[in-house]
Amino acid sequence: MSENIINLPTSIPLLRDQQQRPLSDLRISVMDRCNFRCPYCMPEDKYHEHFKFLDSTERLSFDEIVRVTRLFAGLGVSKIRITGGEPLLRPGLTDLIGDLSRIEGIEDIALTSNGILLGQHAAALRAAGLNRVTVSLDSLDDEVFSLMSGGRGSKDRVLAGISEAAQAGLMPIKINTVIKRGVNNQGALELVEYFRGSDVIVRFIEYMDVGTINHWQETDTVPSAELVQHISQRWPMTPVERNYHGEVASRYRFLDGQGEVGFISSVSDPFCGSCTRIRLSSDGQLFTCLFATAGTDLKGPLRDGINDNELLQIIGRVWGAREDRYSEVRAEQGGSDKKVEMYYIGG
Ligand code: SAM
Ligand code: SF4
Ligand code: SF4
Repeated sequence: MSENIINLPTSIPLLRDQQQRPLSDLRISVMDRCNFRCPYCMPEDKYHEHFKFLDSTERLSFDEIVRVTRLFAGLGVSKIRITGGEPLLRPGLTDLIGDLSRIEGIEDIALTSNGILLGQHAAALRAAGLNRVTVSLDSLDDEVFSLMSGGRGSKDRVLAGISEAAQAGLMPIKINTVIKRGVNNQGALELVEYFRGSDVIVRFIEYMDVGTINHWQETDTVPSAELVQHISQRWPMTPVERNYHGEVASRYRFLDGQGEVGFISSVSDPFCGSCTRIRLSSDGQLFTCLFATAGTDLKGPLRDGINDNELLQIIGRVWGAREDRYSEVRAEQGGSDKKVEMYYIGG
């Protein structure tokens, strides 16, 4: 690999896309498979036992992921999120985290998981260099949890995983809760109550039209403003500044000092203007938007022996040409029926 390493100048001008947005976050999907079948992401009727997922050789190897990440770090990326599918299904993930944590310029490594396997891996992941976890948890009611997970897993096991992660020091832990009207919106208060006063921050995500198979209708989405009002009536809260430019959640702090909640409002209040994220799928396709219809193949060139300079050119061209602002134009242009699926691209 050493002959491919180029000497990057000590100060590189940040890459900017067509909207002058810099590139600072890389989301890496390490696994297309999942042990859940959330109907809003991987409905069972499509992802049944005969569905053809990638073979392990079709996924980028750890060496390939590390090589690409090192180049991204040289281009200004400092934050990485490991996702999927379910990333904890990828054998040896701890080794990958260790390798990524040693890359110069990478300051923050986070993982998004459904939490089912978190309990058994949390301590090793932390020791390897993982900084934080986001755990998806849609309900504390067993029946509703099951509706949202496609009948897989259990909320008790997810809660146990969250406790292990907290003990391992993977803080602050964030909870992702996708709200679907008529299914789990009634349980929002219960989730807030459970985590209020702890260091775990619940973030409600508006159900989105990602992919093409979840039969999304706008009426399924509960606008964040409605939830804010609902929660405020029980525990008064006030908006607080975002922690950093590009943070996707709007934050609200409880007036009684019991912490905060977040709202990710991709449908009702899009934030494309500050979107600094690029995504690498588990088979090495590069995507510049969660709602992309096509990616740029890196795996082929990687396996054909491309050198680092040429890879950098490809990445630079992809980001430089980027115009994506899907969530901002959704309302004007309607959705698209050609989008890639979220479990594949990495949420
Ligand atoms: N399996 C892991 C998990 O569920 O945390 C990581 C991958 S998952 C695709 C990442 C995030 O995307 C999860 O928090 C999930 O709730 C969210 N997500 C999936 N489909 C969504 C949809 N249609 N609308 C909003 N969020 C969605
Ligand atoms: Fe799996 Fe996460 Fe998608 Fe649910 S949201 S099916 S846990 S990848
Ligand atoms: Fe970023 Fe695309 Fe989402 Fe807009 S729609 S915030 S560009 S990922």
